[in-house]
Amino acid sequence: MAILISGKEVSAKVRADVRKECEELKAKGIAPGLAVIIVGDDPASRVYVNNKKKACADVGFVSEEYALPAETTQEELLSLIDTLNKKDEIHGILCQLPLPKHLDEKAVINAISPLKDVDAFHPSNVGRIMIGDYHFLPCTPAGVMELIHYAGIDVSGKSCVVIGRSNIVGKPMAMLLLHENGTVTICHSRTKNLKEICAAADILVAAVGRPKFVTVDMVKDGAVVLDVGINRDENGKLCGDVDFDSVEPKASYITPVPGGVGPMTIAMLMKNTLMAAKLQNGLS
Ligand code: NDP
Repeated sequence: MAILISGKEVSAKVRADVRKECEELKAKGIAPGLAVIIVGDDPASRVYVNNKKKACADVGFVSEEYALPAETTQEELLSLIDTLNKKDEIHGILCQLPLPKHLDEKAVINAISPLKDVDAFHPSNVGRIMIGDYHFLPCTPAGVMELIHYAGIDVSGKSCVVIGRSNIVGKPMAMLLLHENGTVTICHSRTKNLKEICAAADILVAAVGRPKFVTVDMVKDGAVVLDVGINRDENGKLCGDVDFDSVEPKASYITPVPGGVGPMTIAMLMKNTLMAAKLQNGLS
């Protein structure tokens, strides 16, 4: 039976630390502020934005929401970002993705000041992660690392396999494991012998976006299994990329879905916003 790594527990601890530091900053006259931009009315994006606002209130941050209509032009969106880049009370800017099709996501990401880029999607922050000299880490991979640390798992020298190579999860995840001296393999939809590669992993991270994709035959005895996926199964129930019921008895550590990586993402966003407030006030 695997030890369950609880994202609920670890995210509560991260948030408590952020709350405490936020109080200390406020005592110095600095109130960390996060601006969240949402364009259009995608229901999933609305849920994410509401959760981010709630998390800000929970840790004591100021949050501003900019809910723009779906027909917002690129110029209007860039103009808002420019205003927020210059606004001293706002330390972090997040533009909820995906954007409506007519908007250029890349240009929007590039327009956010790297110092306020709390998602760590700006090319300058991505480059900093590559060379290991960063202020912000992308929230989901950073959350996975936090879970690994909390469980006391040493990555050094371990065979680490990441399934998925997206810019927001898979690629930075691999880089963070590499920074901790893991021997890292990245798998994707063109990978041959996926099953064999995964079955050799000491640490397996699934970021595929396919319900219950990782089955027991893809997991080594005693492996650490981290499930980033958020999917619905055939009955509409929330599930991860890992077939939890079959894999759990074989793993040494595993994250559940829900209650695993999910809550970590917002907690790490709070941590990044705090860091942004410190950086912009010369405190870090
Ligand atoms: P993407 O769709 O951007 O990337 C999925 C990756 O999986 C791609 O690299 C793709 O390969 C790979 N893949 C797809 N099918 C296969 C296959 N059959 N075999 C091997 N690899 C495959 O997804 P994201 O990275 O954005 O997200 C991954 C999952 O994590 C989703 O379930 C998402 O909902 C969840 N997520 C959860 C978050 C959280 O807070 N917990 C935050 C962000 C995402 P290729 O590149 O070749 O197409």
